[in-house]
Amino acid sequence: MIQKDLLRKIPKMDEILNDDKLRFLMEEQGRKTVVDAVREVLDEIRSEIFALAPEETEAFQSKLTSAAAAIRAVLKVEEKGKPHLRPVINATGTILHTNLGRAPLARAAAENVARLLPGYSNLEYDVPKGKRGSRHDILQETMMEMTGAEDVMIVNNNASATLLVLSSMAAGKEVIVSRGELVEIGGSFRIPDIMEQGGAKLREVGTTNKTKISDYENAINENTGALMKVHTSNYKVMGFTQEATLEELVELGRKHDLPVIFDMGNGLMVDLSPYGLDEPNVPASLETGIDVILFSGDKLLGGPQAGMIAGKREYIEKMKKHPLARALRVDKMTFAAMEATLMLYRDEVLAKKEIPVLRMITEEKDSLTMRAEALAERIREANPALKVRLIDADDQIGGGSAPMFYLPGKALALSSDEISTAELEKRLRRSEPPVVGRIHEDELLLAIRTIREEEYEDVVRAVGAAKDSE
Ligand SMILES: *Cc1c(COP(=O)(O)O)cnc(C)c1O
Repeated sequence: MIQKDLLRKIPKMDEILNDDKLRFLMEEQGRKTVVDAVREVLDEIRSEIFALAPEETEAFQSKLTSAAAAIRAVLKVEEKGKPHLRPVINATGTILHTNLGRAPLARAAAENVARLLPGYSNLEYDVPKGKRGSRHDILQETMMEMTGAEDVMIVNNNASATLLVLSSMAAGKEVIVSRGELVEIGGSFRIPDIMEQGGAKLREVGTTNKTKISDYENAINENTGALMKVHTSNYKVMGFTQEATLEELVELGRKHDLPVIFDMGNGLMVDLSPYGLDEPNVPASLETGIDVILFSGDKLLGGPQAGMIAGKREYIEKMKKHPLARALRVDKMTFAAMEATLMLYRDEVLAKKEIPVLRMITEEKDSLTMRAEALAERIREANPALKVRLIDADDQIGGGSAPMFYLPGKALALSSDEISTAELEKRLRRSEPPVVGRIHEDELLLAIRTIREEEYEDVVRAVGAAKDSE
């Protein structure tokens, strides 16, 4: 049989579209989607025929049925119907994994988004008064209750918050910052650059390792607009070091009638020092009497991507009216997720249980061990050929927070005599949903801390399917 004969035997479009499976699919997904998929399948079949070796042509005939083409079209429509953004199982042990979307949301936050989004809402409508309201009021009460802040504003992320704060509080003025705190957060977000974007002039004081409160005081002049402290969230200067405390800065600001700004970064809302995590938290920072603090919504706060600005009303009022406010404002999805997350902080025990980031940070060793054993047991059953060990492995906060802080964790260490660890890693990563672990000394580590119990089944299925052949 020659290729020309095969080409003639390719089923026709109409014939394929008559297949029951496709007729059903058309009702679900629309005619165009299905016709396009069939056309792609027909193109593929043609290319396959041209690529055949002479001795393969005979066998290929059996593939040229309209039923076979229809099945291929169904798979194609299914593949194309999958969103590109999809769930991934984080088995890395890094809690705020930037590549994997930073903070997973609390169930209450996800439910609030799902509840609000299909319909309309009072985003900017004052229901009792029957007139226009402000989206800025939505989080006010809850934030005030949680943190004691007079006023609050939410923008797209903490980078936006920094830009807005500097633009509205210090444009054309000098902002005094310690040389030890000229942070690069990542990408092109660097404090000196953002300062320039905000129209403020950076006035560096002190040295990399030591900055005293007197350094700030000596730099104050008639053109000073604000004093600013930046939390060095992603690095630590160790050894012979000194920095001015928030309390000292607040006192100095009062003395010279200058506002004090704190870019806190991580957004921690509770004290986690009993867990060894020595990071500033929002309520304690505000208690110093600081004028404005800003922080991320999706780092240690555990909410959606956002930048939170909290503090004195006189400054935040101005930010709300600034032209940038409109450019940086967030959608109702963010409000819905943030409000529900903040509400969980009314009770610290509840927050640690319900907010995934806090739950993961505070999970006890015993619980990790128990969960790791349970998952290992199921994995051994699903794939008896695999070697599964339980090991101690350090987990991390991630997301550029607390770089020197390690959480003693538990991991499943997998290896196989049949396939390489690299191949095992690849197969798990390419399963649906992808399971992302890390290779350490020729074993694939799955850290239990970042795997939810609801995900065990998917992990077990992925590992079960990662057997020798293929
Ligand atoms: C993370 C961080 C930022 C940037 O926050 P995003 O929400 O990622 O934009 C700014 N400042 C500090 C100190 C940070 O830690």
